[in-house]
Amino acid sequence: MSDTQAGDAGAKTGAHPLEGDQTSRRRMWEFLGGSLSLRIAVTLSLVLTVILLVFIFFATNVLRSDLFSTRRDMILADAAVRFSQVQNTLDQSTAVTTDQVQDAVTQTLTAIRESAAGAGAVEVLLLRSPDSSEAFRINEYVNPEYISVIGGGIRDELAHDVGLWQSVALANGADTIPGIVVGALIDVPSAGPYEMFVVYSLEQEQSTLNSIIQVFTVGSVPVLLLMGLVSFVLVYRLLSPVRAAAGAARSLAAGNLSSRLRVSGRDEMAQLGATFNDMAESLQSKITDYDSLSKLQQSFVSDVSHELRTPMTTIRMADEVIFDDRDALPPASKRSAELLHVEVARFEQMLADLLEISRYDAQSAQFDPESADIYSLVEKVVSANAELADHLGVDVQLGPRPERCSVPVDAIRIERVVRNLLVNACEYSEGMPVRVTVAAGKTSVAIRVRDYGVGMEPDTVRRVFDRFYRANPARTRSTGGTGLGLAISKEDVTLHNGVINAWGEPGRGSSFVVTLPRVAGSAVTEFPLIVWEGHA
Ligand code: ADP
Repeated sequence: MSDTQAGDAGAKTGAHPLEGDQTSRRRMWEFLGGSLSLRIAVTLSLVLTVILLVFIFFATNVLRSDLFSTRRDMILADAAVRFSQVQNTLDQSTAVTTDQVQDAVTQTLTAIRESAAGAGAVEVLLLRSPDSSEAFRINEYVNPEYISVIGGGIRDELAHDVGLWQSVALANGADTIPGIVVGALIDVPSAGPYEMFVVYSLEQEQSTLNSIIQVFTVGSVPVLLLMGLVSFVLVYRLLSPVRAAAGAARSLAAGNLSSRLRVSGRDEMAQLGATFNDMAESLQSKITDYDSLSKLQQSFVSDVSHELRTPMTTIRMADEVIFDDRDALPPASKRSAELLHVEVARFEQMLADLLEISRYDAQSAQFDPESADIYSLVEKVVSANAELADHLGVDVQLGPRPERCSVPVDAIRIERVVRNLLVNACEYSEGMPVRVTVAAGKTSVAIRVRDYGVGMEPDTVRRVFDRFYRANPARTRSTGGTGLGLAISKEDVTLHNGVINAWGEPGRGSSFVVTLPRVAGSAVTEFPLIVWEGHA
C-alpha cells in the first residue's frame, strides 16, 4: 500500500497521553544538547569531580597510614615503658602469699592504668597464659568490655614473643573507633608468666583525619563550581565563530543568499569562515543562474502558449467546418476529419493547461473565494460528466449529502479539480463503479473520488502530481490526457490552503481525497475522509 500527499501537510488531531512526558524530556535534552558550551562545562565538571574524588581517596589513605604509623611507634614506645615498669615493680615486690602477690599486681596495674591514660591508653588487662602456675593462682585483671577486642591471634603469638601489637576496633557508643592493643608476657612472682595488654585509642587521629576529609570535600565544591563556570565561559567564547557560522547558514537556508561570515585571522575558525563564504558564493551564483533560467523557461512556455492561441482559434474554426461536413467526404477523408477533430481538442486542452500552469508559475493566479455548497458543486460535476461515464460504461455513485458543507472556494477551480479526478477515475476504472463521497468535519470539508480499476504502482502514486507525468503514455484515452491535469489540481487545492492525497494499488483501484479548510487561508488540521482503502 502506498499513498502520497500534496499541499500543506495537515497536523493530525488528538495527542497521545505520553506525548507530554516525551516533550518535556525532549526539551530537557534540547536544553542540554542545544548548548555545546553547557555540555562541555558539565562534562569537564564531571571529569574534575572524578579526579578530585580519586585525589581525596589517595590523599586520605596516605595521610591515614602516615598518622597511623607515627602514632603506632609512639604507642609501642610507651607500652614498652609500661611493661618494664610493671615488671620492675613486681620484681622488687616482697609479696610472698597469693593474696600479697594479688594485691601487688592489682595496685601496680591500677597505677599503670592511670599513668598511661595520659598517653592515650584506655585500658590495661592481665590474663592468664597457658604457662601460668596452676598451684599459685592469682585473679586476672580484666575489664569485660575490652576482653573481646583481644583476639586469639595475638595471645597465641604472645607465648613465643614479646611486644606484639594488633589493630582493633573499639566500641564508642553505637560507633566504633580505631585502636591498638599491645601485649607482653609479665613474669608474676611465684605465679609464672601472665599476658599483659595495654589498649590505646586512636580517636584523636581519626577525628584529625575526618576534619581533613571534610576540608577536602567542602573545599572542592566551590572549586568544581568555579571550574564549571570558567570552562563554560571559555568554551562559549571559543565557540562564538561556530555560532556565527550556524546563524549565517540558517539565514542562507531561509533564503538570504547574500549572508556571509566576517573572517579575521588565519586559524581554523577563519578557514571555516572562508570556506563557508566560498560555498555561499557559489550557491548564490548557481541559484541566481537557475532562477533566471527557470524564469526564462516559464516565460517561454507562457509566450509560446499565448502566441499559439490565435492560430489555434483559426485551426479550431476550420476544424469545426470540416468536422460538420465530414459525411460529405470520401471515407478516408472522413476518418482524417474525425481524427483531426480529436487531436485539435486535445491540443486546445493542452494549451489551456499550459497557460494555467504558467499563471501559477508567474504567481498571478487570482484567488477570490466565495462560499459554495461543496455537495452541490460535486453533484453538478457528476451530472455534467454523466455522458462520458455512460460512454465508458461506468456507474458513478454519489454518496449522501452531509450537513454543513459550505466552504469559501473559487468554485471554478474546485469544479476543475473534481472534474479532473472524476474523469481520471472513469477512464481508469475499467468499467467498475466509481464512488464519490463528500464529508464535512468541524474545520474542513473533504471530497473523495474512489475507483476500483487499474490502480497505481507506488512510483505512480509518488509522482502522480508531477507535471507531464503519465504512468502509461501509450494508453488510449477518450479525453485529453496531457499529464498536466493533476499538477493543476494540486496547484488549485494548494491555492485554497487545502490538501490533496492519493492512494492506489495495482488491480485494486485508486483513491483521491481533497480536503479544504472551512476558513479561507487557515491550514487543514482535520481530515474527515481518509484516502486509503480499509479506512474508506
Ligand atoms: P492525464 O491527463 O494523463 O490524466 P493527470 O495529471 O490527470 O494527467 O494524471 C497523471 C497520471 O496519473 C495519468 O496519466 C495516470 O497514469 C495516473 N492516474 C491519474 N488518475 C488515475 C486513476 N484514477 N487511476 C489510475 N491512474 C491514474
